[in-house]
Amino acid sequence: MSTLLIKNIDTLVTMDNERRELQHASIFIKDGFIQAIGSAQDLPNAADEVLDLSGHLVLPGFVNTHHHFYQTLTRAVPKAQNANLFNWLVTLYPIWARLTPEDIRISTQTALSELALSGCTTASDHLYLFPNGSRLDDEIGAAAEVGLRLHASRGSMSLGQSQGGLPPDSVVDSEEEILRDSQRLIETYHDPNPGSMVQIVLAPCSPFSVTGELMRQSAALARQYGVHLHTHLAETKDEEDFCLEKFGHRPVTYMQEVDWIGDDVWFAHSVHVNDEEIRLYAHTGCGVAHCPGSNMRLGSGIAPILKMRSMGVNVGIGVDGSASNDSSHLLGEARLAMLLSRVGAGLQGASRSDEDAPPLMSARQAIELTTRGGAAVLGREDIGSLAKGKCADLVAIDLNRLDYAGALHDPVAAAMFCTPQKVDYNIVGGKLIVSEGHLLTVNLPNLIKRHNQAAARLLNG
Ligand SMILES: [Zn+2]
Repeated sequence: MSTLLIKNIDTLVTMDNERRELQHASIFIKDGFIQAIGSAQDLPNAADEVLDLSGHLVLPGFVNTHHHFYQTLTRAVPKAQNANLFNWLVTLYPIWARLTPEDIRISTQTALSELALSGCTTASDHLYLFPNGSRLDDEIGAAAEVGLRLHASRGSMSLGQSQGGLPPDSVVDSEEEILRDSQRLIETYHDPNPGSMVQIVLAPCSPFSVTGELMRQSAALARQYGVHLHTHLAETKDEEDFCLEKFGHRPVTYMQEVDWIGDDVWFAHSVHVNDEEIRLYAHTGCGVAHCPGSNMRLGSGIAPILKMRSMGVNVGIGVDGSASNDSSHLLGEARLAMLLSRVGAGLQGASRSDEDAPPLMSARQAIELTTRGGAAVLGREDIGSLAKGKCADLVAIDLNRLDYAGALHDPVAAAMFCTPQKVDYNIVGGKLIVSEGHLLTVNLPNLIKRHNQAAARLLNG
């Protein structure tokens, strides 16, 4: 048994069912879970470890719902800087074909380090190519050293260029092998219990890189084991045209055809969805990973997030990338979600003084997407808010900083409106991952050096 008492918190955002925000609050943690939260006098006053967070804002740990860790090795590649999605992919596929198992390990630790320092305590990743003997096991092992919770998606591509798909044949795998490896990974790693550190997700890459048969068989396998399903969907207009031409359906209808609708499914992007499709998401429980940075970077469009929320869709935030963002800063991504949503409201043309003007996403709505929203999308009830019985996953930011000067009348809003900050503390399951701004689990100078060497080797062939 181990206990941790966090005391003197200036402002504590619980994101609990009442969305309470507490001042001068304390949290008592036992064996990785929150045992009590509230005023100091109502909590035990001693513990194995005591952390004084006076002057700090504390938030639930952020949940990242979409990423490709390996792409941190190909950020800002010159030929892919000004391309739309399909041209971007065609430029990068041959570089990614050179990835090795060690590259997967290095990039996993780089992405998770960035995520940890920007407030993330649970990360989902989508790895969909496995060249030169790479395996999802390489990512899972490297992630365990960093210490964040991981939802590792076993991605796949089976539809090479010779069969009418987009990726070159050298990065696609046989469907038999994909399904066999998916089953092995679930049986080896998937832990569905409260406090789980690793869950496996089945995640064919996109409608334009796998066959309908692999989509159907992946769904059947996932449901046999009770694991979740994830893919890219309705990201661009090009994808919509591809689906209409190849399958005779819009992307969401195609998902219905291949049995990919339900509360165990979440889609990245969903920029190009109509009202009927949003209603289907809401009624069936399909979740959305909103990736505003990537959507802006690739010129894909603006996802109708507030409309989705008002219609009852679960939405989380994903940094995506990192070759299409090119950042893994999750707090920064939440801020982009808030700002991009406002651009979308402005483009609808109504004057802000009109009574029926589209609403603007608030700072607290952006935080909610990044915490409770992400947890709901991943199907987790044990994370996403700070309350008795929940995982002790939380982050803290020192309010005494230049960037927040003049905003302390509302420190919660400061975290979203002011320049995105790195966190000073990151705690996962009661364990310190970041303390006083330093990542405790990774030797960063050494990692950055190895990462840059690997990136240079990949680009130079
Ligand atoms: Zn993606």
